[in-house]
Amino acid sequence: MTQPAQPKASHFINGAYVEDTAGTPIPVIYAASGEQIATVHAATPAIVEQALSSAKEGQKVWAKMTGTERGRVLRRAADIMRDRNHDLSVLETYDTGKPLQETLVADATSGADALEYFGGLAASLTGEHIPLGEDWVYTKREPLGLCVGIGAWNYPTQIACWKGAPALACGNSMVFKPSETTPLCALKVAEILHEAGLPAGVYNVVQGMGDVGGALVTDPRVDKVSLTGSVPTGKKVYAAAAEGMKHVTMELGGKSPLIIFDDADIDNAVGGAINGNFYSSGQVCSNGTRVFVQKRIKDKFLARLAERIGNAILGDPMDEATSFGPMVTENQMNIVLGYIEKGKTEGARLICGGNRADMDGYFITPTVFADVTDDMTIAREEIFGPVMSVLDFDTEEEVVARANDTEFGLSAGVFTKDFTRAHRVIGNLEAGSCFINSYNDAPVEAPFGGVKASGVGRENSKEAIKHFSQVKSVYVRMGDVEAAF
Ligand code: NDP
Repeated sequence: MTQPAQPKASHFINGAYVEDTAGTPIPVIYAASGEQIATVHAATPAIVEQALSSAKEGQKVWAKMTGTERGRVLRRAADIMRDRNHDLSVLETYDTGKPLQETLVADATSGADALEYFGGLAASLTGEHIPLGEDWVYTKREPLGLCVGIGAWNYPTQIACWKGAPALACGNSMVFKPSETTPLCALKVAEILHEAGLPAGVYNVVQGMGDVGGALVTDPRVDKVSLTGSVPTGKKVYAAAAEGMKHVTMELGGKSPLIIFDDADIDNAVGGAINGNFYSSGQVCSNGTRVFVQKRIKDKFLARLAERIGNAILGDPMDEATSFGPMVTENQMNIVLGYIEKGKTEGARLICGGNRADMDGYFITPTVFADVTDDMTIAREEIFGPVMSVLDFDTEEEVVARANDTEFGLSAGVFTKDFTRAHRVIGNLEAGSCFINSYNDAPVEAPFGGVKASGVGRENSKEAIKHFSQVKSVYVRMGDVEAAF
């Protein structure tokens, strides 16, 4: 196996790669073969301290630059990422196991989009002037300061950029901790940002498990924490951040509904359900894993779905013909297989898949269960794997109530040709990121994030600026000051 172009050391701090082999070794396993492809070391307390103090200093330098200058650095970084898209995509595939067919178009490209978009906004982050007769108030949009980003393992390049780009555009610095499962890609993001002219200390990467994340979140120098992860981790991190009254963005899990009415274009609906369940082998937080299909078209929908899933190509993720990759780790594969067993024992009808694929690596065949009911475990818990639950429904009122009957609220989708109904249904669904006759599009221009247990705050779009900056208001008196005594 050709080895990936590896980052030079475990951490990136103060503008340079840093190694400290005293930290716990973290093996990096290629999910398609089970082979170890790299080792990084978890950050020791000394490394965490180095990262935080350099971010604190770096932020002062960065915040003094103009928005135009900051934006230029981010846009240069976007150009470099696009130039190196192939190598970065190969690294993303080694880190996650996702097929190159996907990573070539969805990871470094999405990261570059974020850098370009927020680079473009950096110069326009202004306050306002509020006249009050002779006096006035002016506002300034200021950075929060030192931000911590903590990532999940499914989109390591994208998450590093989706958090880093708006934070940096606003004049903050960042210490980013990738998931221990996929530690390589964020280092390349840091390397490229510095190559593009980012001052030392402004974007740092440290490796480690939850304890390193915990040390970052609780440090009094940290002003903001942005986490992408599961709901249980989100609750812990949110609580820890609250102790220090820190700002938070929480991008957490989901169990999103995808509602298909009987007037929908079947092939488009099947395509939406495939994108919303099997892209990245189902390891996507916004997936529409509860597919509600109106009874009249159920058989037609299932037949077409099974036929199209039969075209999925499982295999070497580096082969661009491969359209379906392995689970990120053996552990994640076993969790997903456990859910599949629960689906079978709780009485769901297996339409296709349902087992580990007979090949090297942590592959699970794309799995569809029909006749799923609302109380089944596979319809209630986030699986984070290629398992689609198809549920039947009769009426719009019924399906909206059932779709909302969950602690989660990340995404929701509806397929119908009736546009009045489409907007009405979306209006009644409790979800942050919604789709009509589509599923899982995530352009940087659109806000992304959830309601209920799925999160707090929004990533991407102009909304993200609000979550990485704060407003200072300044009252200016032109006349004399009146006082009671
Ligand atoms: P986890 O919640 O297990 O971990 C997320 C990150 O938090 C990891 O880097 C983890 O470190 C770190 N972490 C764990 N415990 C703590 C702690 N106490 N303090 C600080 N940091 C901590 O999620 P996964 O990595 O397993 O990712 C899958 C989850 O992410 C799914 O539930 C999915 O829905 C969600 N997700 C949400 C997205 C969204 O935008 N809404 C997008 C993608 C995924 P380590 O793992 O190294 O121990």
